[in-house]
Amino acid sequence: MNVLLAGYNIEATRIPHNDDATPEVLSAAYARISRSPKRIDQLREEAVREVDASRRSNTRIIFGMGHASVAEHAIFNIDIIGISRYLAEFVQKSRLASFTEKSQRYVKLHGDFVTPHEILGTPLESSYRTLIDRQNSLYHKLSEAGEKWFTQQGLDAKAAAERAREDARYVLSLATETQMGMTLNVRSLERLLRRLGKLHFHEAIQLRDRIQDLVEGIAPSLVRYTEPDPYDSNRVGVESTEPRLWDDDVRLLSGTENPDDLVLSMAMARDTGDNPDTALHYISQLSLEQKKAEYDKLFSGMEGYHPAPEPFEFADFTFALRMSSCAFAQFKRHRISSRIRTARHPNLQAVFPEWFQHVGMMQPIEEMMVTCTNLWNDLRSINPEIADYALTNAHAVQVAYRMNLRELYHFARLRCDGHAQWEIRALATRIVEIVKAKAPLSAALMMGKDEFDDREE
Ligand SMILES: Cc1cc2nc3c(=O)[nH]c(=O)nc-3n(C[C@H](O)[C@H](O)[C@H](O)COP(=O)(O)OP(=O)(O)OC[C@H]3O[C@@H](n4cnc5c(N)ncnc54)[C@H](O)[C@@H]3O)c2cc1C
Repeated sequence: MNVLLAGYNIEATRIPHNDDATPEVLSAAYARISRSPKRIDQLREEAVREVDASRRSNTRIIFGMGHASVAEHAIFNIDIIGISRYLAEFVQKSRLASFTEKSQRYVKLHGDFVTPHEILGTPLESSYRTLIDRQNSLYHKLSEAGEKWFTQQGLDAKAAAERAREDARYVLSLATETQMGMTLNVRSLERLLRRLGKLHFHEAIQLRDRIQDLVEGIAPSLVRYTEPDPYDSNRVGVESTEPRLWDDDVRLLSGTENPDDLVLSMAMARDTGDNPDTALHYISQLSLEQKKAEYDKLFSGMEGYHPAPEPFEFADFTFALRMSSCAFAQFKRHRISSRIRTARHPNLQAVFPEWFQHVGMMQPIEEMMVTCTNLWNDLRSINPEIADYALTNAHAVQVAYRMNLRELYHFARLRCDGHAQWEIRALATRIVEIVKAKAPLSAALMMGKDEFDDREE
């Protein structure tokens, strides 16, 4: 065996500025593996020597033959600085990508925000700035009032200040600036560009153009289909554009039937080689005690950092959820899932930390929310896509989310844990309760990491 280091991502200023410094050569060399008798390192040497030929073969293989996965061997790291939280949400829809974003929870915010280009120089610009100033002022007042409140509740000064600040952000606008590091392969990047291409507001167009400029000169043979396809924009039931309030905050829509037996049967099929349906029939004949004993074997030695075993992926649950935009910013980071989100609307319920009432701040907050609604309507009349800049972290989103049991375990470890933010923790706890009722054996150890570590075995 021979294992060679073919490449790795290095920081941009260390990359020589010449035409050969392109990740395309890795894609070209790997693409040729399937049909060439040569060793990979030889193919790589040839690809580096003949960059133009590599580009031509990439074009032929990826776009001519549809072997698109070879573009995944080329990876970009991109800093995105000063993007609104609103647009960040679209970017982070990429599931095969990695993001690390400035936390509004841990970093004190200083009122930096994006003003939509569409309203610059119009009368709406000053209304917009006034609203954001008001939100920033509420943020500071809440941070101070909250610090006192949490100190009275027994938290030490540092913890009280942090808790107050992380909750105060509920009144901040989705226009608030953030920054993120993004790592993704060129196949995902191309898809991101197509998705951004469906947006018709300036900030999105600017971001798309900038990313395209950055990568096109470096990997022109890998980034080709960046224009949105009309097919992606097909819509149903377009007469009704106002989202309706869903029934509950957390509601189970559907789930795998008899998940405990199914998961166990998949483990058995894996371990014995039985047909999955034969295994399922066998498992279904076992007593509850016998099934528990089989699960004990599967869970044996599990630590808080262990994922649930692979057979757990065969059972999944779909939930209809309503949460604040603040909680959704965290929820959406769980990539091994399927989701749809309805449009935002100021009439959907907003979520606020309960203590806002105890410190007597709800009245100015509610007044601010009315101004948000008015501005949302005004912005919508200019361009519906910029309206949500007027909304806050407190405004609700409604999402349908499907996760398999393995991902639900991971989600619960992080989000039911004591370190999790309170709103997502409450949602995660409800979700886990519902899943446990449907899957008492397979979900038996689904809980936050702290509870898992503390439990008595
Ligand atoms: C307390 C807390 C604080 C946080 N603070 C911040 C913060 O300040 N900034 C911030 O940006 N985020 C923050 N996060 C979010 C966090 O970094 C994760 O993005 C989020 O929890 C989703 O979890 P995940 O990435 O483990 O896995 P998921 O996306 O849920 O995926 C599940 C599992 O699949 C595997 N997986 C998925 N994608 C990949 C991949 N591309 N490569 C390799 N393996 C993969 C991993 O094993 C992963 O655990 C915080 C999360 C918590 C719980």
